[in-house]
Amino acid sequence: MTRSRPILVEAIFWFLLTALGYYILASMSLYATKGADNIAAVWPPSGYFLALLLLMPARARVTAFAGMVAASLGANLQGGVSLWTASAFSFANGCEAVVALWLLRKREPDELSFMAPRAVISFCLAAGAASIVSAAMALILTGRGFDFFLSWLTTVMLGMLIVTPPIVMLARLFETNAMGNAPVVMKTEATALLTATGLVTILAFSQSLFPATFLPCIAVIVASYRAGPFGAAAGMLIVTIIASLLTGQGYGPIAAIEGSQKTKVFFLQFYLLCLLFTTLPLAALLIVRQRLAKRLEQSNRWLLQAEAAALVGHWRVDLVGWTIHWSDQAYRVHGLEPGTTVDVRYSVERYLPEDRAAVQKILAEAVRTGQPFEYQGRILRADGEVRHVKSHGSIEMGRNGRAIGIFGTVQDVTETVENARILEAARSAAERVANTDMLTGLPNRRHTLAFLEKALAGARAHDAPLAVAIFDIDHFKRINDTYGHAVGDDVIRRVAQRAKAALREEDMLGRIGGEEFVCVLQRSSAQSAEIVAERVRKAVETGTAAQEGQPGATISIGLAIFDGEPDVEELLHRADKALYLAKREGRNRLRKAA
Ligand code: GH3
Ligand code: MG
Ligand code: MG
Repeated sequence: MTRSRPILVEAIFWFLLTALGYYILASMSLYATKGADNIAAVWPPSGYFLALLLLMPARARVTAFAGMVAASLGANLQGGVSLWTASAFSFANGCEAVVALWLLRKREPDELSFMAPRAVISFCLAAGAASIVSAAMALILTGRGFDFFLSWLTTVMLGMLIVTPPIVMLARLFETNAMGNAPVVMKTEATALLTATGLVTILAFSQSLFPATFLPCIAVIVASYRAGPFGAAAGMLIVTIIASLLTGQGYGPIAAIEGSQKTKVFFLQFYLLCLLFTTLPLAALLIVRQRLAKRLEQSNRWLLQAEAAALVGHWRVDLVGWTIHWSDQAYRVHGLEPGTTVDVRYSVERYLPEDRAAVQKILAEAVRTGQPFEYQGRILRADGEVRHVKSHGSIEMGRNGRAIGIFGTVQDVTETVENARILEAARSAAERVANTDMLTGLPNRRHTLAFLEKALAGARAHDAPLAVAIFDIDHFKRINDTYGHAVGDDVIRRVAQRAKAALREEDMLGRIGGEEFVCVLQRSSAQSAEIVAERVRKAVETGTAAQEGQPGATISIGLAIFDGEPDVEELLHRADKALYLAKREGRNRLRKAA
């Protein structure tokens, strides 16, 4: 606003505003509250000037100082002091403004708001230091006594402490349009409270029959409580103006005190100071508390929104009071309305009996060790549905090192578990297909060789016996040629069944080629391997004997006992050579590799 104005107009504006305001306030104070030493009980022009200095742009300050000096000289001369004294007083007041401004700029480089306790403390310190400098200047220049110093000090300090905050706050409120935006109820309440403060002050200070000086204190505290720093500052301003004017005119309990005029003025000043130091910090603290409460409420709302979006709830068990708290989302996970009464026992009993003991064990262990925990289990929801839930959490330790609470999250992971189950089923089905021979249902070549590889490694590692038997259907080409390919397939299938049935549980049979099979006989001595292989041969011979319109089938077997071969190929090669011998020697027989 001020920046767009030409500099000269701006300078004249601040000069006039400073000079006129300062002159009016100074004349009024001198007229109403001037004491025996020719100085007023409070000096509001100091506060007014400091407020303008804080609000105006830096470049306007020089002209403002000129306006202040002119107004101060005028008011003091009119008040009946000599030109020298008026000049000394004006100089002292000028000094205090410079000191206060410098200290405030240093401690509060941002705009002074009076909305934080720190800002209030900085302001009080600056006003105190500036008043000491001002009083010292006035004392040195006029050569008066210590009483004068004290009187000047409190007068100036009160002027700043009482007048600056409401002006600055009002200006900032207008600047940000906060007053306009405040709800009508709040504005009405603030107006009513300030009016009541004024009336109570008039009541207390217009008569001396009842020393009711405590009444305005109550009014200002209520105004601070309800209207914050603005209520405190405006209330203080009202009490100061009314109490000073009425006391100055000889009304009220303070004017009725037995003692000199100076004593009365001091009493009034300290009365106002006490009121000020009670209300302004209180109001600032209230603002801080309100802000914190607002922030807390907001972060709570965000937490609930985040929980609802992520479908993660939280809970806390108070181990001392043995109570449990659930967040809204925790209730939803359990199929309950948020806010329903639940206790620790109920929450544990939600878990299915099969999972409950494990959950309790993990929690008990976490409480014992103080370590973070994690578990997953199934719960029975209030609507009867079984859901998988997962919890992560940590233990809250008390000062004596004992657990006082358990904090955890709870998430419905049913879909994840379900998806994992489907995925696993699909994966194992695919694996089965990839490992199985479609014609016989036996392990295929790839799977058989992989199995044999492992068996060989195991036998070598544990020095355990291992035998491999390769068998091949005899004269199979003939079967194919005579009965056709389909019957040939059927023969392969039957041979596989017979052979499988003749093997032991722990033996493995796989189809590694057209009509070639491999038996892996683990933990079998050479002798028992030979017996098993012979049993297989016999089973095929008898089990697939020729019937009406169906060919019979026999097999030749080559058996090799593991003898420290470095790999599967060599072992199979020996078995193959034995098979070749069996074929050559007439088929339907077993040959053991050398
Ligand atoms: P030998 O006694 O020496 O083993 O004589 P053989 O006739 O059985 O000779 P060989 O083992 O070499 O014959 C394999 C034949 O098996 C060749 C092929 O036509 C046939 N065959 C291979 N795979 C299949 C199959 O999946 N189904 C059918 N029906 N025949 C197959
Ligand atoms: Mg063959
Ligand atoms: Mg064959």
